[in-house]
Amino acid sequence: MSPSAAAAERTALVTGANRGIGLATASELARRGLNVVVTARRRADAEQASIEVRAAAAPNVRILPVGLDVSHAGAAAACRDEVEASGLRVDALVNNAGVYPSGDFFQAPDAAFEEAIAVHVFGVLWMCRAFVPGMLSRGYGRVVNVSSGYGSFGEGLEGPAAYSISKAALGAVTIKLAQTLRGDVKANAVCPGWVRTRMGGPGARRSLEKGAEALVWLATLPADGPNGVFFRDRKPIPW
Ligand code: NAP
Repeated sequence: MSPSAAAAERTALVTGANRGIGLATASELARRGLNVVVTARRRADAEQASIEVRAAAAPNVRILPVGLDVSHAGAAAACRDEVEASGLRVDALVNNAGVYPSGDFFQAPDAAFEEAIAVHVFGVLWMCRAFVPGMLSRGYGRVVNVSSGYGSFGEGLEGPAAYSISKAALGAVTIKLAQTLRGDVKANAVCPGWVRTRMGGPGARRSLEKGAEALVWLATLPADGPNGVFFRDRKPIPW
């Protein structure tokens, strides 16, 4: 069996896959032969991005566009039901969707904190609670929580208040999830570095492909890979 035929037995789901690091990650996973569930907050964006992901994909992989606003209660479970109705089962979950509300502790409006926590904390929590039980019952799974150095206590929680606080809480979600895992199911967090996206801006030094690299690595870790670790450039960084 060729490597891409073997990989096609696996399916990855990427949130916020319509642009930026999410689209680059979805494209690279499909290029490597995984089926990919391309999700975006608007279904039309997921369908549009799927055309790009399909163009990069290895032969015979399945690309499934799904509308998914991770901040909506119930959306993760509805997404799981839609994916399973298509006959796919998610083996690798890449929680990439992110927002970057600006403002310091007092200046940022309440809505900035609400949105950041809805996307980075509740969004990831609901996705993990929807998809990880299936991974555990099948004995294989990879969860990649896309965080930031701005969410690292060890690196000083620099960055806008709502962003840093919510990404730090995402670290707690990742650790608590990792503590519950067994079999060949792993959950890790990653900082992609400063990447040229709408969020990172045009001055960022990293390309999309470079930004996606560690996400793809964690989504396809071998059985002896890590669990419950925060990475940048494949090296552990402090929570
Ligand atoms: P981006 O280009 O701004 O893309 C963000 C993505 O998240 C978009 O697809 C956006 O969808 C989606 N999204 C936002 N809210 C959502 C929601 N409620 N439901 C579903 N999708 C939602 O940002 P990026 O730079 O690629 O960032 C990807 C991840 O990397 C984020 O978690 C970010 O915090 C992290 N990160 C980025 C950098 C950097 O330098 N770029 C550095 C550290 C960490 P819409 O198109 O609908 O808005």
